[in-house]
Amino acid sequence: MLVVHHPDQALHDPALVFRTGKFIDQPDRAERYRIFLDTMRRDAHQIVEAPLQGLEPIIDVHDKDYVAFLQTVYARWSANPDYGPEVIPNVHPTHRMHRKPTELLGELGWYSNSTSCPITAGTWPAAYASAQVAVHGADRVAATGTSAYALCRPPGHHAFPDLMTGVCFLNNAAIGAHRLTRTYGKAAIVDIDVHHGNGTQFIFWERADVLFCSIHVDPRLGAPYYAGYADETGAGPGTGLTFNQPLPWATDDAPWLDAVDAALARVRAFAPGAFVVSLGFDASEHDPVATFKITNEGFVQAGRKFAALRLPTLLVQEGGYLSPHLGRHLHSFFRGFEGA
Ligand SMILES: [Zn+2]
Repeated sequence: MLVVHHPDQALHDPALVFRTGKFIDQPDRAERYRIFLDTMRRDAHQIVEAPLQGLEPIIDVHDKDYVAFLQTVYARWSANPDYGPEVIPNVHPTHRMHRKPTELLGELGWYSNSTSCPITAGTWPAAYASAQVAVHGADRVAATGTSAYALCRPPGHHAFPDLMTGVCFLNNAAIGAHRLTRTYGKAAIVDIDVHHGNGTQFIFWERADVLFCSIHVDPRLGAPYYAGYADETGAGPGTGLTFNQPLPWATDDAPWLDAVDAALARVRAFAPGAFVVSLGFDASEHDPVATFKITNEGFVQAGRKFAALRLPTLLVQEGGYLSPHLGRHLHSFFRGFEGA
C-alpha cells in the first residue's frame, strides 16, 4: 500500500479541550500521527511525503474567506497580549442569528460551533499538510488506478465549507473525493468513523456525482448530534445519494458489518469510478470515546469488504484515538484490505 503523509501534521498538538465544564485531554494528539506512521513503516508499506501543492484543491471544497481566516487567526489572536495561549471561541451564532461580524471573537464564533478546535501556531500548517496528504493520495490513485492510504491528521469529516468542528479544520476526504471526480466522473464515500460525517454530507448534499454513506452512532445519543439521521437522503440533483445508518450505543461487529454490506450495496448500484473510505477507528471496543464495540477482526472484515469492490480507492484517516490498541486497528484493517 502506498502511504502518504507530511511531517507538518505533527505541528498541531494542543493538550486539552474544554468540555463538560472543564478542560479534559484533547483526543486528537500529534502522537496519533506517529503511531499510524510507525505502524505502516513496521508493516513495510511504501511511504511517501506529500508535496505541498497550494490552496486550489482546498478551495474547490472550502470557502475562500474561511481558509483565509484559518491562515491568519492565530496571528490576530496573538496580537492581544491579554488573550490565552490558544485560540478558543466563546460565542457562536445560533439558527436565529445570521450576520457575520469582523471583530475577532465574533468572527471566530462564526467559523466554529464548539470549543473542540483549539488553534495554536502550528494548527494551520498541520491542517494544510493533512489536506495536502489527501490531495496527493487522490492524485496517486488517479495516476495509477490503484489504492492509497492518506494518513490525514488532523482529521476532516466534520469540517464544513466554512466551519471547523469536532477536531476537524479542512475536510480531507471531501477534498480527495472531489479531486477524484475530475478523473473518474463519479466517486462514492463510505464513512466508518463512529461519528457521523456531517461536514462531508453537507458538502455533497446536492451533488449527483458523489454518493455519501455513513455508519455511526445514532445522533440522538452522541456527537455530532445535529445531523446523521436516517431520513437525511440528499436534495436536488443529490436526492437519494446520502445514506445514513445510525446504530445504537455498544454496537458490535455483526450489525456493524451488516451496515457495511448495506453501504457497499449502494456503492455498487451507484457504479462509481473511484471509492473513498473515511477510515475512523473510534468505533473500536478499545477507543477512549467508548461508543461501539468493534474488534480487530471487525476491522479485518471491513477491509476485506472494501477491497472486494475492486475500485481505485483512497483511504483517508479520520478518528481513532490514543489507546495501546490504535496501531493494531490500522494493521488489522490493512491485513483485510490487502489480503482480500
Ligand atoms: Zn470520530
